[in-house]
Amino acid sequence: MTPRLELDALAAGYGGSAVVRDLSLDVAAGQVVALLGANGAGKTTTLLTVSGLLQALAGDVRLDGRSILGRAPDRLARDGLCHVPDDRGLIPGLTVSEHLDLVRAGRAERAQVDEWFPALAPLGARRSGLLSGGEQQMLALALALVRHPRVLLIDEMTMGLAPIVAGSLIPVIRRIADEEGCAVLVVEQHADLVLTVADRAVLLVHGEVALSGTAEAVRRDHDAVVAGYLGSAAGGASAPDPSPGT
Ligand code: ATP
Repeated sequence: MTPRLELDALAAGYGGSAVVRDLSLDVAAGQVVALLGANGAGKTTTLLTVSGLLQALAGDVRLDGRSILGRAPDRLARDGLCHVPDDRGLIPGLTVSEHLDLVRAGRAERAQVDEWFPALAPLGARRSGLLSGGEQQMLALALALVRHPRVLLIDEMTMGLAPIVAGSLIPVIRRIADEEGCAVLVVEQHADLVLTVADRAVLLVHGEVALSGTAEAVRRDHDAVVAGYLGSAAGGASAPDPSPGT
């Protein structure tokens, strides 16, 4: 079956210089794929390129088997691709309810938000700038959810959140894939956390794939590969042969 989202030998970057090279991955409907890597590895650049905010330098990105390179971000949004950026994309002066108005959430969608994120239910009149980090992330996810995305890109969902809050939000990713049949590509620095809900994962090191495979295989090899690269960056051992996993 054609994967819903495919990145094929993608190169992405700025001003003609690639910071991500030769990245291939695919995400089927109902699947969660985690894109892992340290600061500056190229994760955000990848998501910006998939959602049409940056021009690809080489390779292809396909939605349902069709290239979407050059398609405008607003058209991609209408085609069902939804991007939750790392700054969460909220407007601080607008309330929770006003954000839901913006995405034209009707009664059924608001009930769905209350069911998925009960903590938001009493906060309808609160400005998003006054929400906690976890509540802001819930709102960002809720705004994505009510649009019933076919592909969801989530950037650094747990950034700045207390571990307990991050741990309580991560299962939502699995639920979106399972219950909405959405293809989810999630960028995360906390590999241990996201690998508990991902089907597969890709580890980027300096913009290149260092490890890719099932969540279980990546969980097993992740630390050793990262340690190997850190060792080589410190001028010691050479990088390990990146295992493709299973
Ligand atoms: P982080 O978690 O720190 O955002 P990341 O893996 O998402 O890490 P990117 O933000 O994709 O990494 O950055 C990859 C590289 O591209 C970094 O070296 C960064 O300095 C560079 N970069 C990011 N934005 C720009 C830009 N607007 N112009 C030029 N270079 C950029």
